[in-house]
Formats: sequence, structure tokens, C-alpha cells
Amino acid sequence: APYVPGKPVEELERELGISGSVKLASNESPIGPSRRAVEAIFAAAENLNRYPDDTCFALRDALATQLGVAGEALCFAGGSDGILDLLAKCFLAPGDDALFPWPSFAMYPIMTRGAGANPVQVPLDREFRADVGALLAAVTPRTRLLLLANPNNPTGTSIGAADFARLVRELPERVLLVADEAYLEFVRRADFPSALAALRERETLVVLRTFSKAYALAGLRVGYAIASPDLISYLERARHPFVVNSLAQVAAAAALADRAHTARIAKVTHDGIAQLEAGLREQGLAFAQSDANFLLVEVGPAADALQERLLRHGVIARPLGGFGLTTHLRVSVGTREENERFLASLAVERKR
Ligand code: PMP
Repeated sequence: APYVPGKPVEELERELGISGSVKLASNESPIGPSRRAVEAIFAAAENLNRYPDDTCFALRDALATQLGVAGEALCFAGGSDGILDLLAKCFLAPGDDALFPWPSFAMYPIMTRGAGANPVQVPLDREFRADVGALLAAVTPRTRLLLLANPNNPTGTSIGAADFARLVRELPERVLLVADEAYLEFVRRADFPSALAALRERETLVVLRTFSKAYALAGLRVGYAIASPDLISYLERARHPFVVNSLAQVAAAAALADRAHTARIAKVTHDGIAQLEAGLREQGLAFAQSDANFLLVEVGPAADALQERLLRHGVIARPLGGFGLTTHLRVSVGTREENERFLASLAVERKR
């Protein structure tokens, strides 16, 4: 089955002949990127006759400094999706297993099958968290990758430092542990693990990050991997040349430097989570504890049908029937007005 993205606003409006819709279906930043990123794009546009810098020199240098790692410990790609693809290409072959909690990021089974390998899905625990004991118990001689989104998508839940340390310690060395930290910048729990620090303890570990969420650059497609220079060298061999375009490179570097803007996006997100939680409580609805920029909401039976009805209000949330979550919807944090609109439409449709 192909990856199903959140419905674009333009598509919904074309289909229903409406306008002013809000998209809360793809965990995007509700506010745009840093002005500095936009200005960097305009300045770089004059040179689009040239191929990009294949080494991503300026972006690599800035990130390496900020993270305290060597430049050779980084590999860039078209979103963290691009890195997942490289991991599959380098480390999965027919007959191999890739292990991951489920439900989790929809691309994990797709990248695994694309390499001819087998996805092995380990159910989340009752609080929708990755079950580290069950993951470790599911490892077999065929297991090559363990894909762990922390915080997890579509649940927003995370695992703490003790659980992560256990994985780092007990997962056999020959299994590559992939810590996908797409939502890292939104995390508030005090005991959130540092996957970056664990790179000092474990050779077969790779950390994934992205500019799509807290840097508000989803449209440009920049993600990266942090790992040992040796492991990174394999990803570098497998990637396409010039994979990160020149506008994306300058915008990502500018966004990285604009810490005030990133802090603003985190604040809008945290305020939005509080607003959504309060509104959902008022409606008597349960939701999972989220460390990300979205909430998993239990809306009752026929959640996918409810999501279809929300579309008529111009509100796009994410149905999760495909994940086996037939009583839940995922809603991304929007602006104050967008969140309000979601809550109001939900209240109307649940009364029907
Ligand atoms: N990992 C997780 C857990 C995600 O939720 C997403 C985005 N939905 C990605 C990776 C991919 O993000 P991108 O390719 O935009 O970096």
C-alpha cells in the first residue's frame, strides 16, 4: 500500500467547492518559517543555474558546531524520509527483518518492504508507548533494524531515559538502532533520553532529525542522520548526488541560526496542545499524553466516518483506520483559531 499523505487544503476545497479550510493532518508548523530563511531563499534563487553544493558545507558546519559532532558524523537527505530510504538501501536485504513498535510512522513498513525485507510490528503498550521489553523479546537472528520514533507518530507518546538506555544496552550490537527524533524540539518531559549522547556508547545507532517540524520547512525537504563517521560513510555512498537543493540548504542554515523563531514555534505548539487538551476534556474525550505537535484523540466508534464529516466543515484531521485505530483521530496543533475551529466542528459532528 502506498503512503497516504494528509489531504491538501487545495484538494479538499476543489472537491467540496468551499474555501478557508484548515489542515491539521500532517504535523506541520502552524506558522511559517523564519524570515531569515525566506530571505536566504530569495538571495540564493539568483544562482539556481548552478548545481547545489553536494557536501552541504555551510549547513553541515553550522549543525556540527551546534550539535558538538564532527561534520563527517552527518548525512543530509530529502527529509528524514530520505534518510529512512538510505537506511533500507544500505542495511536491509530480502529475508531480513525490520522491527518497530506499532502503530508508528507509516513509512517504516513501506521502506522495509521496498527493500524486500519483512516488517515486524510490536504492539504499543496500553498507554500507547513503545514496549521496550516486547521489542527486545521480538529480536531474532534475522533482525537488522529497530526503528524507534521517539516521540512516536501517530500517538505523540515518548519513552524515557531508562527505557531508552535499556535498548541501547540490551539490543544486540549487530542490530542497527534507529532513533527517529522528528519531534524532538517539542518534548518537555524531564527524563527524555539523549540519543545523541548514546552515540558515544553504541556504534550501531543512528539518530534522525528533520527541518520539517520545529523549523517549519516541510516544503523544502531537509532531514539528516547523526551517527559514527563509519556508518555515515555507507549512507553517503548510497545517496544521490545533490540530493539537498540549494534553496533548502541556505534556508535550513538560516532557520537553524534563528533560535528565537524556533522557540516561538515551540511556544505556539505548547499553547495549542494546552488549548486542544482543555477543549477535548470539556467534550469528555480522552487523548494520549503527547510530547509532539499533535494529539491522538479517542473519538469513539467510526472515527474515519467522523473525519469525513469534519471535512465538510473544512477541517482536515488524520483518520487512523489504516493503523487499526478505528476509534481515534490524530489532530495536529494549529493556530489558536484553527484549534478552535477543530474543537467546534468536532462538538457539532459528535452530537449528530
Ligand atoms: N519520522 C517521523 C516519526 C515522522 O512523523 C515524519 C513526518 N511525518 C518523518 C519521519 C518524516 O519527516 P520528513 O521526511 O519531513 O523529515
